[in-house]
Amino acid sequence: MDSVTTKPAPPTNGASPANPATGSLTQGAKFYADVLHYYDKAAAFSKLDPGLLKKIRYCHSVYKVQFPVEIEGKLEIFEGIRVQHSLHKLPTKGGIRYSSYVDEEEVKALATLMTFKCAVVDVPFGGAKGGVKISPRLHTERTLEKVTRRFASELIKKNLIGPGTDVPAPDYGTSSREMTWIADTYQTFKYGDTNGLGCVTGKPVGQGGIRGRNEATGLGVYFGIRECLSQKEDMERLGLTTGLDGKKVIVQGLGNVGYFSAKFLREAGALIVGIAEMEGGIYNVDGLDVEAVFQHRKERKSILDFPGAKNVAASAELLEMPCDILIPAALENQIHEQNAPRIQAKIIAEAANGPVTKEAEEILQSRNKLIIPDLFLNAGGVTVSYFEWLKNLSNVRFGRIGKRAEEASNRRLVESIERHTGDIFSDMERKLIVHGSDELDLVRSGLEDTMIVAYNEIREIQRRNVGMPDLRTAAFLSAIEKIGISYQMLGIFP
Ligand code: NAD
Repeated sequence: MDSVTTKPAPPTNGASPANPATGSLTQGAKFYADVLHYYDKAAAFSKLDPGLLKKIRYCHSVYKVQFPVEIEGKLEIFEGIRVQHSLHKLPTKGGIRYSSYVDEEEVKALATLMTFKCAVVDVPFGGAKGGVKISPRLHTERTLEKVTRRFASELIKKNLIGPGTDVPAPDYGTSSREMTWIADTYQTFKYGDTNGLGCVTGKPVGQGGIRGRNEATGLGVYFGIRECLSQKEDMERLGLTTGLDGKKVIVQGLGNVGYFSAKFLREAGALIVGIAEMEGGIYNVDGLDVEAVFQHRKERKSILDFPGAKNVAASAELLEMPCDILIPAALENQIHEQNAPRIQAKIIAEAANGPVTKEAEEILQSRNKLIIPDLFLNAGGVTVSYFEWLKNLSNVRFGRIGKRAEEASNRRLVESIERHTGDIFSDMERKLIVHGSDELDLVRSGLEDTMIVAYNEIREIQRRNVGMPDLRTAAFLSAIEKIGISYQMLGIFP
């Protein structure tokens, strides 16, 4: 028998201490407490009604379910969690994480971040997040499929998933594979729902996914860092030149986000000097070939002993090595008060969610470091998920209807210019000018625009508000004001 609890999130003033044995906070509770701290710091700059600020702060609801799955003839019980933070826009949106460390407080922290992340990049969703307490590495694909399908069924039963209610996506430990299983389970229950594929994003292209989603978060990280590095005044304050060319970068985590962030940064001229993974790190001051490192790890099951690179046995030590930009792209709480005084990077680009604790943030700020906050920097994933959802609701690939018409119009323009000038374009020039936008072009351009606009918006908020300490507070304030207006327009709050 499943044990199911549906309860409102406790209206406390912060995260609950969840480790009575030590009296200290668990990792998840610490993360949640930090998120609320950041919220409060930004809310202090807002003129919204205090009751509304409270409403925006707390998680709307927490669903926790224990469900059984048969593994090799034995029943095992797994715990699944789904938290919906804010319903000011529907559907709610947020990934599903598979990890043995998943706990309620962590999921609440991530769901809260999702609300503000969506608002920062003008994605019209509320925030949510989910998790299953399971270590994917210790289970077969068959078991993972059973667990995923069963968890999806539990969510369907409670109407906690659907294109108009709550739309999960991949997160740490899950990928397009799990999303396909979820979509298939949903469509089995809701047979004939033509919007059904929009119940989940991050699906493979052949299963209703969108081109460009797989690399979206890493590409967004790249656009965000590039925009930050284009600000002359900010770079001068850090003692850096503008632009990515030759900048030294260390990345923690060579998973989806870390790999693509490193790949796009390298292509733009940055040197990836260090990569940290669970088994250790590698460092080469002349730069690493990210693709070759990825292949090396795939073949050897370890990042270590990469030709030409120095091994760093204790993975966390790599975070403290010389570089201009440090990109934590693995998990939360990686930069804390112990290692923050030794971080050498001038820019900490939060590709992961919550990688810097609030104590570390204070130390880093006192050392004149610039933090590009997670709720802006890794919003590329949810931005392209939004595009995927739109595609699923309209049941047509972006570019399908207009591409040829755009090309015909461009061709007429080229021919007209040639007639009037008497000059003839080369075949390559003609091809480039005539090319009509296909799905990938549109997704990437929509993502690029989103990241550039959002960065300049939060930077402007920081500049305009006297005493605004950092970009994170600016990003939270930007989101709080947008959500506040949304509630006010619903007529619920003054
Ligand atoms: P992933 O599972 O694809 O990759 C994570 C990588 O980090 C793995 O390779 C893992 O081995 C490595 N890792 C774990 N612990 C480590 C440690 N202590 N030191 C070094 N490496 C370690 O996950 P992902 O999807 O890339 O997500 C990474 C982070 O980005 C998470 O915080 C996630 O919430 C966040 N995020 C992901 C997306 C997305 O679209 N995937 C979107 C927004 C935010």
